[in-house]
Amino acid sequence: MNQVAAIPSDQPGAAGKVNLLDFDRQGLRDFFAQLGEKPYRAEQVMKWIYHHLESDFGNMTDVGKALRAKLEASCHVGPPQTLVDKAAADGTHKWLLGMDGRNAVEAVYIPEPTRGTLCVSSQIGCALNCQFCSTGAQGFNRNLATAEIIGQMWVAAKQLGNVTHQNRRITNVVMMGMGEPLANFDNVVRAMSLMRDDLGFGLASKRVTLSTAGMVPMIDKLSEVIDVSLAVSLHAANDELRTELVPLNKRYPLAELTAACQRWIARKPRTSITFEYTLMKGVNDQPEHAKQLIRFMRKLPTCKVNLIPFNPFPGTRFERSDAETIRAFQTQLLNAGILTMLRRTRGDDIDAACGQLAGQVNDRTRRSAGIRQRVEQGEAHAL
Ligand code: SF4
Repeated sequence: MNQVAAIPSDQPGAAGKVNLLDFDRQGLRDFFAQLGEKPYRAEQVMKWIYHHLESDFGNMTDVGKALRAKLEASCHVGPPQTLVDKAAADGTHKWLLGMDGRNAVEAVYIPEPTRGTLCVSSQIGCALNCQFCSTGAQGFNRNLATAEIIGQMWVAAKQLGNVTHQNRRITNVVMMGMGEPLANFDNVVRAMSLMRDDLGFGLASKRVTLSTAGMVPMIDKLSEVIDVSLAVSLHAANDELRTELVPLNKRYPLAELTAACQRWIARKPRTSITFEYTLMKGVNDQPEHAKQLIRFMRKLPTCKVNLIPFNPFPGTRFERSDAETIRAFQTQLLNAGILTMLRRTRGDDIDAACGQLAGQVNDRTRRSAGIRQRVEQGEAHAL
């Protein structure tokens, strides 16, 4: 088990100051207006923050001295603090990032020949209690602020030498780390708009993906407010098994989820939805499960499946399906004409299941059970 240092509390000198990472472009313009500054000044500073990854106002050389002094006095650029920084032999990188004096989340970078994907967390813990998930097993603590979400990308970009619009080490972001992103809607949307914005990290809509366990009303809301890609954690295509694995299915069963996905596609005809399916030995990896998945996918013909071999963590009752079963499951889907990818397991020498590292330091509360119940009853903003 990794030994994780105590989490330092807020950055020195930052107390009471506004964190500029909390604002999207319009928010920053409004904030600068409050300071009595022109909106283009906000955009100048935004470029320094996201294109040059500069957090020191003193180094923002084309910003006038008076404004720099004003910014120093009232605000800061405050990314999360790096507590653990681990790189695997295959280039996979994992950070444990301190969010306050008590809690941390994980961000993971996975390089591949043609792209580099950063997986970002949206909450400290998660209330949805998916049975195969290390984060879910730890319970829920709180939502992350916008600065804490985009700050994960800021830290990774700086560490990796990413240069927006030039040397992109991070070509894709998936909101697929700890937490249910649609349960932290406003902060996640604001952070994703910074990922998309040309003055932010400038990623195309198909390169920013939000993954949800299936919060149906929020899927509709998301399609109305921002252009990003959607992934759904499915894991079973019959209601009984899916409710066991993903308890949120009790509130939003497959018929409702399917209808929401069909509405998403109708609104965004050129997009596809990826359905994540974690394969667990003897649980959801048999030929009849593949058949059920094929029937489900027939209702969403432009969509695809991403098969994920289960990543075991201490205390789990599930096991990874064996390689032969995984191959047979994939072949059955491919033979039925379903576009099906298989996620390679990466970073084995640093990896624990998502959320395991953070689970060592986080301060859990008794809020989880009550919040979980409210979310299952449909109160997405319970979190
Ligand atoms: S799989 Fe996602 S939604 Fe489910 S408990 Fe884990 S973090 Fe939460």
